[in-house]
Amino acid sequence: MTEHAVVIVGGGPTGLMLAGELALAGVDVAIVERRISPELAGRRAGGLHARTIEVLDQRGIADRFLSQGQVLQIVGFNMVRLDISDAPTRHNYGLALTQNHFEQILAGWVDELGVPTYRGREVTGFTQGGSGVEVALSDGRSLRAEYLIGCDGGRSLIRKAAGIAFPGWDPSTSWLIAEAEMTEEPPLGFRRDSVGVHAIGRQGTQGKLGLVLVERQVGATDEPTLGDVSEALVGIYGTDFGIHSPTYVSRFSDMTRQAATYRDRRVLLAGDAAHVHPPIGGQGLNIGVQDAVNLGWKLAQVVKRTSPEGLLDTYHAERHPVAARVLRTTMAQSALRRTDEQTTALGEIVSELAAMDGPRRRLAGELSGLDIQYDLGDGHPLLGRRMPDLDLDTANGPLRVFSLLHEARPVLLNLGDSGLFDISAWAGRVRLVEARYAGPWELPVIGPVAAPTAILIRPDGHVAWVGDTMQSSLLDALTTWFGPSAQPRGPADSQM
Ligand SMILES: Cc1cc2nc3c(=O)[nH]c(=O)nc-3n(C[C@H](O)[C@H](O)[C@H](O)COP(=O)(O)OP(=O)(O)OC[C@H]3O[C@@H](n4cnc5c(N)ncnc54)[C@H](O)[C@@H]3O)c2cc1C
Repeated sequence: MTEHAVVIVGGGPTGLMLAGELALAGVDVAIVERRISPELAGRRAGGLHARTIEVLDQRGIADRFLSQGQVLQIVGFNMVRLDISDAPTRHNYGLALTQNHFEQILAGWVDELGVPTYRGREVTGFTQGGSGVEVALSDGRSLRAEYLIGCDGGRSLIRKAAGIAFPGWDPSTSWLIAEAEMTEEPPLGFRRDSVGVHAIGRQGTQGKLGLVLVERQVGATDEPTLGDVSEALVGIYGTDFGIHSPTYVSRFSDMTRQAATYRDRRVLLAGDAAHVHPPIGGQGLNIGVQDAVNLGWKLAQVVKRTSPEGLLDTYHAERHPVAARVLRTTMAQSALRRTDEQTTALGEIVSELAAMDGPRRRLAGELSGLDIQYDLGDGHPLLGRRMPDLDLDTANGPLRVFSLLHEARPVLLNLGDSGLFDISAWAGRVRLVEARYAGPWELPVIGPVAAPTAILIRPDGHVAWVGDTMQSSLLDALTTWFGPSAQPRGPADSQM
């Protein structure tokens, strides 16, 4: 039986990102993906939000995506565009890039890192014991792994087989989404009727039209066809405008559910396997990729035995609330899509508010992912938040903070006097970098904050500790996040 330290089920955005993170950390990881070809059928995500671009930048691969997409202001709430060009980030924009394209580029990186993919076969079940998981494949073979990660999408077999509950809300609205040609010219823009808001727009340059149509019936689970789109058009516009030559036809709904737990012993869930919601706001792919970046380094440390397996519980503790908030916001946006007069009036008021500066910053901070703060206790506003990509001066010349994270290793950044810190007990695990920074400190949504002396940055770019001396809280943070020191505690504690 073939063995890997980690087997990931699903080579979509989440599974690919997680595989890359684990491979960077030197973990033996493999992906099982049922699609034979990396090509993605149908239309799914259309872009990346600012924090996802930052996360890719932390690994030194953002340019691969930026060079293939279109930089745009893509954040919106209730159809109000929320400009983030004043946000304190190098990437104060979103990126229009199809999911198919995104996956191809990410898969290229994962291939470079040497991750094997078992393509064209499905995981059909698993059994987990005290020391590992046995994974059954549709070709009759089995794999053995220390950990099994379900990145297998909203209908996740891994979640179901693990018996993890998926509470939430059934769909109340279903949409058809398609790109096709028409022999007659349709009215472009939005059309409201008693069923909902429908839209037709020009796509690209080759005479294609993009359609998003609310369906009269909810609950269809089969793959939609051009016939379904034609029927929906006739119901809404009285004609199908001679629709033909579809590039894709897809369906999505406002079903909203979240896994009760992201971990059952040696089995963990990430991405759509852990949370599903309507694509309004364009969040799903983004939070899946960020789940992967939160989990990857923790799982790597546990597999390498530098951290106890309890570290894995911080993955649920940190990421479950993030998706819960996304679910709440998408439910609110779905509700505002209703076309009755009361909801229309409410929507107008919400849109007026969203366009005001304070609400714009607050909503844009959430939807772009730039305002995420993990609960790491009280302290400096940076604690638990993303580390900004500052331009540093070092003895070796200028350096960007994100370039320190390319290898997905933690960094203690000392911006104070040289020699303040000795973390040799974590040598080989945590890198100490001494630098100078004289610029402003500003966080998305929060605004200016006091300049810290030293910052402990986790591999996912979130700040684990802020302080100014070799105090015990630093030793605690190092131990919590990167495992016990190689030396017993002693003199450093007494320097407090
Ligand atoms: C119409 C539409 C529009 C969307 N728009 C946006 C948007 O604008 N922005 C955004 O961020 N998100 C958007 N989303 C959501 C986004 O597509 C998903 O959140 C994203 O694909 C989740 O990635 P994932 O890797 O977690 O899951 P998936 O992309 O679903 O990948 C799961 C993978 O697992 C494989 N798999 C499943 N079961 C097995 C098995 N048993 N064995 C082996 N392999 C298996 C599948 O083949 C698949 O490749 C949209 C979705 C839809 C439907």
